[in-house]
Amino acid sequence: MNTKRLFSQLCSLSRTRVIYNNHAIKRNIPNQRLFNSSSTWRFDKKCWQCQSTNRPSALFCENKVCSVIQPIPPQLNFFHLLQAGKGENKDKPTFNIDLKALKRQFLLLQQKAHPDSFSQAPKRQLDYAQLQSSVINKAYNTLKNPLSRAQYILEQNGHQVNEGDSLSDPELLMEVMEFREELEEITTEKDLVPLKQRNDEKFQEVVDKLTDAFDKEDYKLAKDLAIELQYLTSIKNAIHEWHQ
Ligand SMILES: [Zn+2]
Repeated sequence: MNTKRLFSQLCSLSRTRVIYNNHAIKRNIPNQRLFNSSSTWRFDKKCWQCQSTNRPSALFCENKVCSVIQPIPPQLNFFHLLQAGKGENKDKPTFNIDLKALKRQFLLLQQKAHPDSFSQAPKRQLDYAQLQSSVINKAYNTLKNPLSRAQYILEQNGHQVNEGDSLSDPELLMEVMEFREELEEITTEKDLVPLKQRNDEKFQEVVDKLTDAFDKEDYKLAKDLAIELQYLTSIKNAIHEWHQ
């Protein structure tokens, strides 16, 4: 891989931002209900078949006699959907999540809503299964990655991280630029090892600081750290692609 390509990758921070606001999956869903920013439900939804009242996060009708597949709003809080929070309140957005539990829940929901199981079902049910699958995938991909998870929690709290946001600490910015220069000069894989190690350590350090900042609900600090993590992620991606 040539250095020019490497450099362009390093510069392309936009690649590191996971887009979870995918308009492609937004559809006109009947009974779609929104929730407010504090993640408590404002409305329940009625089953399209039996008219029973269900929680908006219900993937299937909670009336056991009916149990038919339900539409879910694409804006459904991902922590609600995947029950990714900690302790008693698994709906609550939390940065420090149990990734194994997240994956288990993801696989369980993905299996239940798999469109293949609805291939013989009426079109409406197949549509809902496809919608559920895409929302479940999007939720999992957003929450499993520390950068997109941080961006998601920040955005929900009114602190959106934009692609153009740069590091406010000049010392930190200098450190990143020096790191990039070092990376550009590398010609063998052997030389890449210490750089990768240094970046991984730094990455983990920032993730730990983010955990603290979110615990204290210090969103301003968390935003700065998320921006730093954007830079470290782009370096991580460039190191990864160096091998290819
Ligand atoms: Zn029903």
